[in-house]
Amino acid sequence: MIAMQQQDTYRHKGLRKELANKMRDKGITDPTVLNAIETVPRHLFFGTDTIFHEAQAYEDIAFQIGSGQTISQPYTVSYQSQLLEITPRQKVLEIGTGSGYQAAVLATMGARVYSIERHRALYDKTKPLLEKMGYTNVKCFFGDGFEGQPAYAPFDKIIITAAVPEMPHKLLQQLAVGGKIVLPFGTETNCDMVRITKHGENQFSEEVFGKFAFVPMLKGKVF
Ligand code: SAH
Repeated sequence: MIAMQQQDTYRHKGLRKELANKMRDKGITDPTVLNAIETVPRHLFFGTDTIFHEAQAYEDIAFQIGSGQTISQPYTVSYQSQLLEITPRQKVLEIGTGSGYQAAVLATMGARVYSIERHRALYDKTKPLLEKMGYTNVKCFFGDGFEGQPAYAPFDKIIITAAVPEMPHKLLQQLAVGGKIVLPFGTETNCDMVRITKHGENQFSEEVFGKFAFVPMLKGKVF
């Protein structure tokens, strides 16, 4: 079946409930994350030119979305979202807008999201999609995530959704004291989920979680 369906039906809602249950079974406990997985219509983030079976949107798999990029696996989205420990109205910077799904999940959790994408084609597609879907608390930017978004800093939380080979120092600077950054640290094929907490201007602590797979975080912009 080719999915050109741009509606959200009871069938989709049922599939989402199952997906949220699967996330719970895999160890996700934050109720705001589980609620977001159950609420955000993931099948509408694949783009109309992507060929997929609709039910695949609610399987726990990543998917190609064009420009060589992927929509992250629901478990990865849930895991990173949980590590962020979002409270309502927190300012969250996301690096790697991609399909916009992770941004929509964070917005549904109550965050004010600032999201940067380096691929112009993805930015041009995702920004209007999020607007059309009514995510007024997501601001999209076209740029290089390594630079962050200093005009809106400091951020309570930062999430990187691509594998980072080196510590992004500008992003650590743009984190509020008491804030946390969650990033897959390493290469595309070998990265650990890392959470860094900022205790003072130059004081940080680090926690390392399991292995994940991500597309790489690359420098510069693609027009
Ligand atoms: N959060 C996305 C995941 C997309 S995959 C989602 O929910 O769909 C990672 C994304 O990071 C890709 O779109 C890629 O183009 C982007 N990316 C990689 N390096 C980047 C950088 N330096 N700045 C901004 N975006 C970057």
